[in-house]
Amino acid sequence: MFEPYAAARRTNHCGVTAEIWSDAPNVFTLVALTPCCKASGKGGDSPTGVVCRACYRPVSAKYGTSGWESLLQAARDAKCPCPSECADWLHSVLWEDINHLTN
Ligand SMILES: [Zn+2]
Ligand SMILES: [Zn+2]
Repeated sequence: MFEPYAAARRTNHCGVTAEIWSDAPNVFTLVALTPCCKASGKGGDSPTGVVCRACYRPVSAKYGTSGWESLLQAARDAKCPCPSECADWLHSVLWEDINHLTN
């Protein structure tokens, strides 16, 4: 797991909140936030699984990961009717932001 020093950008779409984290200069990670508290997942490698960093309830292991897969899980949890399209949309918008941040 990574500990970011900054959440560079936050985007909301279709009930999903996703952030771009920067944990080193010009290193960016795209993270979906938990549906319960809009917090990050915690404990990806622990035997108890991934929990919400705010309320410590178990959440999908996908919240302990980053990128498109975590966005897909978040869209499913938000009851989006077309989660893979939502994940695609969020992914492309956030990567566009990342490109601006690196320029
Ligand atoms: Zn929570
Ligand atoms: Zn959607």
